[in-house]
Amino acid sequence: MADLSLQHIHKQYDNKGLEVVKDFNLDIKNGEFIVFVGPSGCGKSTTLRMIAGLEDITSGKLLINGQEMNNVLPKNRDIAMVFQNYALYPHMSVFDNIAFGLKIKRLPRKEIRSKVEEAANILGLEQFLKRKPKALSGGQRQRVALGRAIVRDASIFLMDEPLSNLDAKLRVQMRAEIIKLHNRLKTTTIYVTHDQTEALTMADRIVILNNGEIMQVGTPKEVYNYP
Ligand code: ADP
Ligand code: ADP
Repeated sequence: MADLSLQHIHKQYDNKGLEVVKDFNLDIKNGEFIVFVGPSGCGKSTTLRMIAGLEDITSGKLLINGQEMNNVLPKNRDIAMVFQNYALYPHMSVFDNIAFGLKIKRLPRKEIRSKVEEAANILGLEQFLKRKPKALSGGQRQRVALGRAIVRDASIFLMDEPLSNLDAKLRVQMRAEIIKLHNRLKTTTIYVTHDQTEALTMADRIVILNNGEIMQVGTPKEVYNYP
């Protein structure tokens, strides 16, 4: 369960530099699937990284469930992130890749096994648990990355162009799988993409960014008159 409030968020990477995020204001309700869309360099990743705590907020406030988060460490934010390049450990099996965060948390072995198996089941990875990432297809690798996020039971998912390394056919398939996953888990999600079709077909609400500023916020119907 999490709602988010971004209030007058600004970002400058250095004192003299340009503002790459300018007065970003957005309230996100628990369970929403929000898509940030806009051209490369418009500030999507930076905003996501500020929410995750991987980048400092220059000014403004980030609230999660009403609590100010600006100075909370990433590991204490109850957020799971999925990246474009999967960020899997090549020497570890699929099982160990999915289990990694749970092992660090020192969860009991039985509980780890059952969580990993449940995630593998949701994602159709049951037969691949012993394989190494290099023996998987791109889509399977991205499912492992999703599995790693699922087992954390985080109340927020942040996805940074998770499908952009996949071919067109697989992108369409994984789009549907991510939505299915969302309908099942109802985890508050922010999904970043430069692909309008992804925004249209996946979002509850779309946030259109350009040059560090919000241009428009609305449902696919409000924004593009779709479907
Ligand atoms: P997007 O995700 O929309 O492609 P980014 O948030 O990655 O955009 O980048 C927004 C702007 O900030 C770009 O001009 C980019 O070059 C700049 N930028 C991103 N990361 C850094 C950084 N670590 N240091 C300085 N500038 C950065
Ligand atoms: P993305 O599109 O996801 O932001 P990039 O390839 O643009 O990926 O950026 C990769 C990494 O480089 C990120 O950690 C980002 O913060 C950093 N980065 C991007 N632009 C700049 C920049 N102009 N100066 C320094 N670091 C940057």
